[in-house]
Formats: sequence, C-alpha cells, structure tokens
Amino acid sequence: MKKRGGKAKCLFCDFAQGISQKHRNGHSFSKLKETKNTLSFLSLDSPINHDAHILVIPKNHYENFHEVPNNIKHELSEHISLIGSFIKKRHEGYNILLNNGKAAGQYVEHCHFHLIPRDLNDKIKIEIWRRKRISKNKFEDLARRTKKQLESNF
Ligand SMILES: [Zn+2]
Repeated sequence: MKKRGGKAKCLFCDFAQGISQKHRNGHSFSKLKETKNTLSFLSLDSPINHDAHILVIPKNHYENFHEVPNNIKHELSEHISLIGSFIKKRHEGYNILLNNGKAAGQYVEHCHFHLIPRDLNDKIKIEIWRRKRISKNKFEDLARRTKKQLESNF
C-alpha cells in the first residue's frame, strides 16, 4: 500500500503532507530536515538524560521497510547517515532502530527509523534481550535451514 485512502488516518502521513502540526499529546511537530521523499523530526519519546531522539521517515505511506521502493530506501539511508553524523558530534554513539510490525514494537504503522543518541552509562537498555544457549550443531543446522528458506524465496 503506497498511500492511505480517505478513511484510515496516519499521523506521519499528516505530518508529511502538512495536514497536522501536532503530535498526539498536542506538542508541536517540528520538521528537522526534508529531502524529496524523506523527512526527519523530533520524537516525543526522548530517553531520560538525552536531548533528541530523531525519527526519519519516507513521506509516502509504507508500513514496513521491505515495502519501500529501492530509490527511497537509498534516500532514507543517506538521510539517516546524515542525522547519525550529527548525533555523533554531540554524543558517544547512537542506535538506529527500525520496528516492523506491532510484535516488534511498531506503534505508528508508517515505516520510521529511530535515531537514539547514546553515551556510556546512559542506562538505556535497548540492546538487551534474553539469549538462548545454542549448541554448535544446532547453530549450524539453524544457519543451514535459514539459508535454504532464504534461497527458496521464502
Ligand atoms: Zn502514513
């Protein structure tokens, strides 16, 4: 789906098209940078102790990253890289986060990259999840199966 019809509302489409200038809680939407097909702006969800959590989106509506056309993926990549270098001048590091699907933590169904500034000991724990122990054989088997699935085009 490229664009949404009249019924379903999408906040990020409204931002991209200039229809809305407010976040859900009434805070002002502020555009940081715009290219032909992409847009960046401040997220409402800034981690504690941090100044800016930035979102980069395609202007047209695509729910998942794999649905974005390649030329726009390239444009997104350049935009993300620019914002990344901007953050890196002010912080020790940054995360690029992309959630696809509600199960993955995507709450606005319009593809968006999170750029989150990081510093040592900032107490942000997004990179931690429970890891399972896996034997060497099972790991190799999993790699074989995954590769086979990938090669047969899903
Ligand atoms: Zn949208």
